[in-house]
Amino acid sequence: MEKITVEGFVVNETPYKESSKIINVLTKEYGVIGIMAKGAKSVKSKLRVGTSKLDYSYFDISYKKDKLSTLIDVKVIDNFKNIKFDLEKTTYMYYLIDLVSQIIKNESNSEIFNIVLSAVKKIDKGFNPEIITNIVEIKLLNYLGVMPILNCCSICGSKNNIITLSSNSGGLICSNCRTNEFIVNINTIKIIRMLYYVDINKITKLDISDVVIKEINNFLIEYYEQYTGLYIKNKKFLDYIR
Ligand SMILES: [Zn+2]
Repeated sequence: MEKITVEGFVVNETPYKESSKIINVLTKEYGVIGIMAKGAKSVKSKLRVGTSKLDYSYFDISYKKDKLSTLIDVKVIDNFKNIKFDLEKTTYMYYLIDLVSQIIKNESNSEIFNIVLSAVKKIDKGFNPEIITNIVEIKLLNYLGVMPILNCCSICGSKNNIITLSSNSGGLICSNCRTNEFIVNINTIKIIRMLYYVDINKITKLDISDVVIKEINNFLIEYYEQYTGLYIKNKKFLDYIR
């Protein structure tokens, strides 16, 4: 057992006995870990603040690899107040944290952690949560090893006359290869590429039309269903609350 400090988001909390709870935390250092927070449900407990679902905190813990660690102390890093007062933004935040947790599980991946952290910060600052979420989803496809082909036609490899994109073919399609695929807006193709390369931290404005957002989002929903095997129930809930 070693005493360490980890940084992370609370993904889930489960009550344990009268006053305690077990929290699952998406950490920068160890992927998702389970932490026993003794007495954390009690109003007087110093472990109460910072251990609720979606809290972003530093956790001082007795770390036990592959077992439940024990919480010693907790300090909130950021409350993301603008997100937490908005159901839609909160749902996007939860979706992102949950998606990333499903992908990295108990392996550490600080790069993915930083992508989701930058995304949450941007949503809190008022950027369109749908586009920010799409950016994270595109970047994650690369880590999942199923990146769509966005630099040439996914069927013949041609870089000319790119006309649309399709989840079935795995990316872009040129006018020679297109059969009956829906033709997306020309900007959708340009912007989906741009979103893959953009550094989320450096985004200062997002000027993207609703049509393009919708087309990119639809493509990603289909693509995730076809190629990732991830259960994206929250994404459907997002569509529902919108
Ligand atoms: Zn082609």
